[in-house]
Amino acid sequence: MDDRKLIVISGPSGCGKDTVLRKIRELDDSIAANISYTTRSPRPGETDGVNYHFVSKEQFLENIENGMMLEYNQYAGNYYGTSRESINRFLEDGTTVVLVIDVNGGRNVKKYYPNALLLFLMPPSIGELRRRLIGRGGVDEESIKARLRIAEEEILYAQNYDLVIVNRDVEECARECLEAISAWEKAEPDNK
Ligand code: 5GP
Repeated sequence: MDDRKLIVISGPSGCGKDTVLRKIRELDDSIAANISYTTRSPRPGETDGVNYHFVSKEQFLENIENGMMLEYNQYAGNYYGTSRESINRFLEDGTTVVLVIDVNGGRNVKKYYPNALLLFLMPPSIGELRRRLIGRGGVDEESIKARLRIAEEEILYAQNYDLVIVNRDVEECARECLEAISAWEKAEPDNK
């Protein structure tokens, strides 16, 4: 099982991770996106089984109990987590798969899969991040403040990632991610 095919994308909420991932997959349709589980409610336009598996807190806790989660975390009052089985399926198939998860998740994935590539997307500025968070709707002022506070902590953790990419322009950022993924897959694991 080649864990170099496991790609983590982290970055503050609102920095454009999902949009960049969509662009990455438009540019290279061989790349898969893992679907996380969450207890938060869907935002306008989000669909169960596409953006997330939206589950109740009870269901999520049961999944943890059953050992189903490779990693999970609480973020702004909700649970988010990655299914172990889903990741194993991608890796067994030899499919390059991207996980859009927070920095705690990234740290845990690297623990289990040391050759996973950790990419951190940085917003051009905190002001721009705030504008994007407000712009996408579905979150109140308190929740925006909480996300900005978490963003500051996440940015401090970025130094532990393999590569930091500033998301000024979605396509440019997606192309940089693809270049990094391609270089990583070609390199010998010992070089990392
Ligand atoms: P949002 O509510 O904005 O979709 O996600 C909030 C945060 O949770 C984001 O930083 C997102 O990357 C992270 N996240 C999403 N899925 C997972 C997951 O499966 N595990 C972890 N650890 N974080 C996740």
